[in-house]
Amino acid sequence: MGEFIYTNFFINLDISNYLKIKDKIPKKVNLLAVSKGFNCEDIKTIYHLGQKCFGESKFQEAYVKQSTLKHFRDIEWHFIGRLQTNKIRKIVKNFQYIHSVDSFEKLEKISNASLEENKNPSIMLQVKLSNDPTKAGFNSKILLEKWDLMKKFRNVNIKGLMTINPKGLSSQENKVLFRKCRRLADLIDLQDCSMGMSGDWEEAIGSGATWIRLGSIIFGER
Ligand SMILES: *Cc1c(COP(=O)(O)O)cnc(C)c1O
Repeated sequence: MGEFIYTNFFINLDISNYLKIKDKIPKKVNLLAVSKGFNCEDIKTIYHLGQKCFGESKFQEAYVKQSTLKHFRDIEWHFIGRLQTNKIRKIVKNFQYIHSVDSFEKLEKISNASLEENKNPSIMLQVKLSNDPTKAGFNSKILLEKWDLMKKFRNVNIKGLMTINPKGLSSQENKVLFRKCRRLADLIDLQDCSMGMSGDWEEAIGSGATWIRLGSIIFGER
């Protein structure tokens, strides 16, 4: 009988991918499992393997999962998607981390909402290090100009920088951009760099990432 308990036709997640990646990641690098597009069963499967941090990029989709999984109290939810101004308060109320803060104005709105809601989310400032028109983020010069003002905002715990590399770069080109992100974070004394996805995470780790954000390589194709 016993073995049937573990045989479930509805579980199609291949956990060996997760375990192999966990094995390759240095202890000081955090793994964010990006569960956007995947269901609660998949989340639970890797939760039970010890994964506690999950990344979502759409508020509504995430909120449904958060409600379903609310008994898993030690799950830490990270928002990684484009921040719409009208969703900021809800995001502040429901996520411990926001990786995608891409403007001064949005940081200010997060700070104001956090004060009112008595929250203190951890923040990554998203930087744009290449000319990819599809990606958001601070231009590094503007980030440096505004930094002294930004670090004074209350109820936001700015931990680091986040970047998304354009698709299709060589390994070397990926490393160049990741190192730029690392240097910029070091320049303003920020510890964290959230960088590296399924196609470029090894380069990111080699370049100083402290968070890697992996979706398809763990959960399968969306
Ligand atoms: C979807 C997404 C990821 C994960 O992408 P994969 O290629 O599936 O690993 C990481 N970061 C952000 C911001 C994303 O939107």
